[in-house]
Amino acid sequence: MQEYHNETFLMAQQQLDEVAELMNLETGIHERLRYPRKALLVSVPIKLDNGQTRVFSGYRVQHDQTLGPTKGGIRFHHEVNLGEVAALAMWMTWKCSLLNLPYGGAKGGVCCFPEEMSVGEQERLARRYTTEILSIIGPEKDIPAPDMYTNERTMAWIMDTYSNFVGYAVPGVVTGKPVNVGGSLGRGEATGRGVSYLTTRALEKLQWGIEHPTAAIQGFGNVGSVTAKYLDQQGVTVCAVSDVHGAIYNPKGLDIPNLMKYVKDNGTIVGFDGSEKIDGSQLLELPVDILVPAAVANVITEKNADKIQAKLIVEGANGPCTPEADRILLKKDVFIIPGILANAGGVVVSYFEWVQDIQHLFWKEEEVTEKLYYLMGRSFDEVYHLSQTKGVDTRTAAMMIGVGRVAAAKSLRGLYP
Ligand code: NAD
Repeated sequence: MQEYHNETFLMAQQQLDEVAELMNLETGIHERLRYPRKALLVSVPIKLDNGQTRVFSGYRVQHDQTLGPTKGGIRFHHEVNLGEVAALAMWMTWKCSLLNLPYGGAKGGVCCFPEEMSVGEQERLARRYTTEILSIIGPEKDIPAPDMYTNERTMAWIMDTYSNFVGYAVPGVVTGKPVNVGGSLGRGEATGRGVSYLTTRALEKLQWGIEHPTAAIQGFGNVGSVTAKYLDQQGVTVCAVSDVHGAIYNPKGLDIPNLMKYVKDNGTIVGFDGSEKIDGSQLLELPVDILVPAAVANVITEKNADKIQAKLIVEGANGPCTPEADRILLKKDVFIIPGILANAGGVVVSYFEWVQDIQHLFWKEEEVTEKLYYLMGRSFDEVYHLSQTKGVDTRTAAMMIGVGRVAAAKSLRGLYP
């Protein structure tokens, strides 16, 4: 299936192949997991504000549905393509399984420049995209959620479009919605909360004795900014952050609450008082204890891995380290909390949201956060324990658990017909 083959998909597939060999995975099951179960490629025409019609390419890929309906975000980004979406869908399968959620993995996206589009254009895009993928989504089939450049407003449009088609309100068709239309308290901050929770849990477990840990965070969107907020509250000095416009640095630490206000007013971190502007790539190589890539994939590669000074990398983003970078980082004894574990907070609370929607019974934020930390902590301990007992790195351990559960379920269910 050459259609999927690009750098990111081949990287996801290579990770699976390596783990399959290590686990002695049954060949038939391994083969069935190497490619998505289903992929839908759609043309999404919309009227732009200037009256012209433009057609965008949209994708929805469902990797595996052995453990339950498929689940995964929708991304609006100019680099969206079939291979990338398929890789992200595969990682969602391992993530859901690792966290013991009754889901398989999916992902979707539309190739566009969302920052150059008006709210009206984005709404028309979201609604028409939903219409085009309507036949394969639903609360029992495939449940989208926000990802890069989509948010709770986008989810409300998707929920409304789907509900209008079926004729009644279906909040459970998407997660990450506003609370007023069936969203969950605590969902908006869930991914960043999970990232910061596991960062401190790892520091406790590793007992490096760092009194005043320092961090650099790449990306200051939903994941990056919330991670910065909670790391700051937990006593970690956040020295550098970046966004698509640039990076800022202050070795003594950035004033995170004020930076968050500044970003709200200015739309970027660049120009924030009390910081020096640095190059985006420099941020990754700063002398800090913790590095949180929370933007895009493939940013730590064989070209810069050797220059990374952080001893702990917490993958807020999906796929920020390439397999070649992993090998270099392991040699340098860098401890990595892999994305399928580190950024799982979003899908964990999405699961809670879906459960609440189905039950029509809503929980307090404290209950949501407590359950989130419990599931994240339990999976972190399982990964750490397996990596220690099997003598493998944490990414391999996380994949072994994630792939192992799906494979066991596949084996029990057998092959239809
Ligand atoms: P977002 O759209 O809210 O923010 C993205 C941020 O990254 C922005 O600050 C943007 O300016 C910045 N950025 C984009 N390209 C960059 C570059 N080349 N260098 C530096 N910064 C850059 O997106 P998000 O929801 O925070 O997602 C970020 C990452 O986390 C993605 O990889 C996404 O797949 C992953 N993720 C998100 C969630 C979630 O719940 N939102 C859950 C799991 C994983």
